Amino acid sequence: MPPRTLPEGVVPDHPLARYTTVRAGGAAEYFARAPSEAALAALAAWAREEALEVGVVGSGSNLLVADEGVRGLVIKLEKDLSQIELDGHRIRCGGGARLPAVAAKAAQAGLSGLEFGVNIPGTVGGAVRMNANAYGGELARVLDWVKVVTPDGRIDERTPEELGFAYRRSNLAPGEIVARAAFTLEPAQSAEVKATLAAMRARRKAAQPSGIKTFGSTFKNPDDPRAEGRTAGQLLDAAGCRGLEVGGARFSLKHANFVENTGEATTADIVALMAEGRRRVRERFGVTLEAEVQALGPVAFPADWER
Ligand SMILES: Cc1cc2nc3c(=O)[nH]c(=O)nc-3n(C[C@H](O)[C@H](O)[C@H](O)COP(=O)(O)OP(=O)(O)OC[C@H]3O[C@@H](n4cnc5c(N)ncnc54)[C@H](O)[C@@H]3O)c2cc1C
Repeated sequence: MPPRTLPEGVVPDHPLARYTTVRAGGAAEYFARAPSEAALAALAAWAREEALEVGVVGSGSNLLVADEGVRGLVIKLEKDLSQIELDGHRIRCGGGARLPAVAAKAAQAGLSGLEFGVNIPGTVGGAVRMNANAYGGELARVLDWVKVVTPDGRIDERTPEELGFAYRRSNLAPGEIVARAAFTLEPAQSAEVKATLAAMRARRKAAQPSGIKTFGSTFKNPDDPRAEGRTAGQLLDAAGCRGLEVGGARFSLKHANFVENTGEATTADIVALMAEGRRRVRERFGVTLEAEVQALGPVAFPADWER
């Protein structure tokens, strides 16, 4: 096939590890930054013409990229698509806005409802896809609408009811990109909201490792009665996984459900470690853990993994 003519800003063979918090994985066949809704729509249209699959990276804080790379076009939202704007009790932002920054802006403005986002190191778009949550806060409770750019070139506005939120999932289809979102919050005392954020940060610091290369929780907390209410981290710990290593990947010594890249971990190392942790938990408790981390590209998860 003759080489493609690339639109301005589209880069071939672009390494993706640096866009992930675990710092692993290969390159995107094509990579581009989308600074506006128009640019995003144009990139989606080019991908459609060229029959390329479209992927999106947010902060890469829940992402495992295939070592052999990702076919198609991978997009990162920036500039206008990462802005945060206040409008009375409402906050409108780009899908690339960082959730802790949105939480801090809300606190500054004396608005309550997004405090739970302070410790979630992802973007608004990633949070919508993952139905991110912490400390009992809930995205759906404050989310008004999202604007989604679809692979066939539509721009849809969707309400939380239309997003099919369930535990760590939404019904966004592959290639659908959250370009914008709006939240409606409750007025509150700014000092009180800020104090809540500080308390949440302190609580998180005590419970989870910081300053490591990780994608946060590896497995979802199971609802299997055999888990007897234990979290994925508690099960992994009881099955002897804390500190377990494969290549450059290790289950954190501080939190057994966090995989840490101790140096040069490949995605294959991480998947092998996850598979061993999952095997041990199944053998010991009969509980089958389900991965929370999302794959970009052909990550070789074992065939029986429900994801
Ligand atoms: C230290 C640490 C702590 C964490 N704590 C929490 C926590 O308390 N609660 C929690 O829920 N999660 C937590 N996470 C996981 C992670 O931060 C969330 O899942 C977050 O919502 C992912 O957002 P992201 O922008 O990083 O998405 P990415 O990791 O970049 O991508 C995740 C998925 O979302 C898709 N995506 C990204 N942007 C968009 C977009 N604009 N439109 C459509 N799809 C998109 C990607 O294609 C991929 O499928 C933690 C992670 C870390 C590293």
